[in-house]
Amino acid sequence: MSDRPAVLGGEPAFDTLLPVARPVLPTVAELSDAMDATLSSGLITNAGQVRAFEAEIADYLGVAHVVAVNSCTSALMLLLRCLGLSGPVVVPSFTFMASGHAVLWSGASVTFADCGPRTWTIDPDSAAAAGGGAVLATHTFGSPCDVRRLEDLGVPVVLDAAHGFGGRYPDGSMIGTKGIAEAFSLSPTKPLSTGEGGLVTTNDEALAAELRIAREYGNPGSYNSVLVGLNGRMTETAAILGRAGLAGFPHWIERRGRLARRYLAALREVPGLSFQQIPDGAVSSYKDFTIHVTEEFGLTRTQLAECLHRDNVDTRGYFDPPLHRQTVYRDVPGAVPLPVTERLSAGLLTLPLHSQMEVDVVDRVCGAIRSIAEHATTVRDRLAA
Ligand SMILES: *Cc1c(COP(=O)(O)O)cnc(C)c1O
Repeated sequence: MSDRPAVLGGEPAFDTLLPVARPVLPTVAELSDAMDATLSSGLITNAGQVRAFEAEIADYLGVAHVVAVNSCTSALMLLLRCLGLSGPVVVPSFTFMASGHAVLWSGASVTFADCGPRTWTIDPDSAAAAGGGAVLATHTFGSPCDVRRLEDLGVPVVLDAAHGFGGRYPDGSMIGTKGIAEAFSLSPTKPLSTGEGGLVTTNDEALAAELRIAREYGNPGSYNSVLVGLNGRMTETAAILGRAGLAGFPHWIERRGRLARRYLAALREVPGLSFQQIPDGAVSSYKDFTIHVTEEFGLTRTQLAECLHRDNVDTRGYFDPPLHRQTVYRDVPGAVPLPVTERLSAGLLTLPLHSQMEVDVVDRVCGAIRSIAEHATTVRDRLAA
């Protein structure tokens, strides 16, 4: 690699574009027995593979009940609908749009809270000030939010665990075991993927039973519907992918952590970059490895992203715009100030992290960032020209 960044005419760090995320997927050979059995049985949705997948997830997470569905969005919609919440639901503005949308689809309203400047997860004090009848909090980038302090608010706490599969709380328990229930996404950018898919995990038996009805249109089996459900079912082929993925998952999640620590070690000394604070004793799933590009770096987040793109490194500016700046939410009254959300949405940059990425790929991304940082003044003039 040249010592000049690609934006200044150096050799790009990568020959082809390095994507930000890439799922771990089994081979056709690994799936063939299960696929043969399922296809020849004629049962291709919501049957034995889905039930086995649910049992294996429950065992892995240490949670009593798992309800598999077709996305995290439908998981959250069904969950919030079953809880029959009244009054606004507190949601961090700094999250993916599906968190807020699920609240509105369930018939409740939203009120936004700010997030912590170091943790990047919902700030419990801001959530208290926002004053809703329930909280829907996100484990941002896979780092667990402070469920204990949220539960002290005395309202139901539901977790958007879309990023968190494989992560742990400070007490050592897995993400997926706390709050009234947690909802995971199994879409391709998440740590475990079935193509599309979602999971609700809960220790509440009655809620799990209601969710099973809710994912079947609200039909308890008698065709006399008891609630406004969805077709939220997971297909058998998705569950086959999920079971194969889960079998190798402990190895890959451990590797994600190692790659994230390598990023941290290589970037820690770069002036103007800061990092998410993972709570003491907790383990992030590192669904994403994200840096905070502050003024001292000499370039904005967007300028750094543009430079990295010239080096064939793809990045994301999650979550920009945050929910309270999106058109759909323009009429939501601002209950509390959201200064941290504003700062993070403008300053964060997510770097490529794939469970199967080679260590030297991390080193080359970091080399490109360091080289861009060293030439920041020249780069700024070049981008302005
Ligand atoms: C991906 C994501 C979702 C939506 O998951 P789907 O499975 O695509 O519906 C919800 N919340 C957050 C925080 C996400 O990142």
